[in-house]
Parts: sequence; structure tokens; C-alpha cells
Amino acid sequence: MAKQITRIPTPVPAAKRTRVAAYARISEVKGNTPVSLSAQVSYYNQKIRQNPAWQFAGVYTDAGISGTTTSRPGFQRLLAACKRGEVDIILTKSISRFARNTVDLLSIVRDLRQAGIEVFFERENIRTLSGDGELMLSILASFAQEEAWSTSENVKWGIRKNFEKGMTNQMCVYGYIWTGTEFIINKTQAEAVRYIYKRFLQGARYSQIIDECAAHGWQAYWGGRFTIAAIKMILSQERYTGNTLLGKTFNPYPGHHGMKNTGQAPMFFAEGTNPVIIDQETFERAQIALAERTKQNQKCVHNQTLTVFSGRVWCGPCQRRANRCHQYRPQGQRVIYGWCCPAKAKGKPHKCAGGALREDRIKHITCLLTDKPEFSNELFDSYIERIELVMPGQATFILVDGREFLVRYKRGKTATMPTWDDVKEVTKK
Ligand SMILES: [Zn+2]
Repeated sequence: MAKQITRIPTPVPAAKRTRVAAYARISEVKGNTPVSLSAQVSYYNQKIRQNPAWQFAGVYTDAGISGTTTSRPGFQRLLAACKRGEVDIILTKSISRFARNTVDLLSIVRDLRQAGIEVFFERENIRTLSGDGELMLSILASFAQEEAWSTSENVKWGIRKNFEKGMTNQMCVYGYIWTGTEFIINKTQAEAVRYIYKRFLQGARYSQIIDECAAHGWQAYWGGRFTIAAIKMILSQERYTGNTLLGKTFNPYPGHHGMKNTGQAPMFFAEGTNPVIIDQETFERAQIALAERTKQNQKCVHNQTLTVFSGRVWCGPCQRRANRCHQYRPQGQRVIYGWCCPAKAKGKPHKCAGGALREDRIKHITCLLTDKPEFSNELFDSYIERIELVMPGQATFILVDGREFLVRYKRGKTATMPTWDDVKEVTKK
């Protein structure tokens, strides 16, 4: 079947509209070729004309030709039109329709890119001028190839090329140093990573791991102590296995911020992109353990223990009943309980300015206000009506007799207990 070019001239050139062309190709093997081809032509015709921002720049087609670029006359015509500067965007169904192999594909796409021409692959949802468009393209192209020639080198090459151009935004990976062209292992950090995986799989708590890392002198990526979030991030960083997962975020619209990709866009897994720190099996075990622990931790929030303080501690700013929360200490693993706003306890983005107050401080302040040497549940129950967490470091104690005291307390592990100097009577008259 001969080439078909559908071109409808536009008499009045619209000012600054994007000129869009399409490329369609079908193989004769599948039968009813003419129908399929004309269907594609009318599909693109309609699609381009329906968009008011676009100017129709032609639909180029090839049929029954499965050879290389040079033997596709429709494709050659399209490239010639691009060279003449008549096209801004090329729409095409899929990578396999556009080029037969990676080398062809990448060289064509790069030439077009140099000229500022974008190719949009509809099935794969890839725009070649977008952030990691070319990177994804090179990986996909290797899958699309029919010939069984070494693909791994091409994939690696594609990734390396893109690293050079700074196309990936994930250069800050704990355990590695980005040299500007590749990732090399940061020995100290890699040691910390292996230790974190080992201790986590042994069942150590996050706070334990954090303390132990501090004892080893290991610091977080930007310095200082690790946070639980940082430990979790390390435990779920698939880069340590030597591979890279691409497309973890996607852009729904041009200019939009990247959103977490939960299946809206394709994800790509590239193997052997950086040196290995954690073997695949250990990594997979960690993923299972992570999921289990998250489940357990979620249970704890709902399993509130009834104590004498229950229902007596309130968040000042949002007037919610405070939740009992706990904190593990390093020595002897004694559990420290405290009370804080439920929004904070569930780990939600906390917009509430309320503070948290440890139970040992509540007990101490109760003794202070009632002038009793020792705390008991009866003491609290008979003297204290309500505690309001005003802000971090400040709480109001409302007594049964109506008096109100604002208490300032120091926070942190080594903080001293409040004294009468930190207490101010604020009884409402
Ligand atoms: Zn609150």
C-alpha cells in the first residue's frame, strides 16, 4: 500500500497556535488495513482540529512497512516537514509505531528535541520534552524492540545520559555521593544504612535505631539526629538494591507540581543504575516488616488506655480531648507517657498549635498546686478538674475549686520540673 498524506490547508494562519502533526503506521499482517488506517487518520484529524490552541499540520502515514526509518516514506515526509519548521508537536499512538529500535528512536527524538519539536506517545503517555521523558522513552523503547539484541547497555546508557543532564531530581540519596555523572557509595552512610536494615529486621524500634545511630556518630543526610521519617525513608529506598524506580511522581498538567503516582502514569524500573548497598532479599523482607509495623502502630492509636487523666486533658487551641501518647527512652527502655492533641497523635499534618505534656510533669504539677508531697490518682481526681494544653511549653490547670493556673514547663529529655516560679494564677473572676 502506498503512502497517504492527508493535509488540509489552513487559509488564514492563526497567530502563534501550536502546529500539531500526527504519525500513524499499521502493518498489513493484521488485515483490513485501509479501514484501520483511515480510522487513525480521521481520529487525528478530529483530535487536532478540536483543540482551539492547535493548528493542524497534517497526518502522515505508512502502511505495511515494517522496515527501518529509511524505508518509511510517510515518516520521511514528516521529518522533512519538521526540518522546514512546519511542526511543533507530533502525536503518535505508541513507541513501537514510531520507531523500530532504540537507536533509531532516540536519535530521531533527540534531533526533534534540538529543533524544539515534541513527540507525544499516547499509549505510554510520554512527552519527549518533559522532565524525564527521554529517560522513560529509552527504557520503554528497549521493551518495544522486536529484535533480541542487547538492551541492557542501551538502558544504562540512556540513564547515564540523563543523569549527566541532571534530569533526575533524586540526587540526594543517603548512602551515596552524586559525583555529577554517577552515584558512588558513601562508606560511612552505607554502613549506617546496613545497620538500620539489620536492626529493623531484628525488631528494634525506630527510637532505638535512632539512638543507636547517634551513638555510632552517624548523622542524617543534612546532619543531626535521624528522624523516624528519615529511617522509614531509608527502609523503603529501593535504590539500595542498585535499581531505580522511575516515575514515582507524575505531572497531571504541564506546569503542575508532581503528584504521587499511584497508577495514573506508568512506572519504570531500571536495573543496575548505582552500586548495591542492600541485597534484594533483605530489602523485600524490610518492606514486609515495614507494612506490618505500620499496621501495628495504627492499632495503638485506637487502643487508648483508660487512666485517671482520661478525659481531663484537652487541647487548648482546638478544644479536642487529648490523646495519651507514648515515647520510648533509650536507657532501660522505660516508656514515657504524655498527652497531646489527637491531630498530632495520629501523625496528620498538624495545623493545631496545642502542645504536649508528659504524665510525670502532670503528676509533679498536681503535687505542686495541691502542696502534697506525693501523687496519687485520688489526689488528681479530687483536686484537678481539667488541663488545657495552651501551646508547646504552657498548660492551664483548672482546679475543682475554680482556681486556674498557667504553668510553664520546659520540654526535652533533660528538662527540669516546673517550680512555683513557673506558675501564674489566671483565675477568671
Ligand atoms: Zn489541637
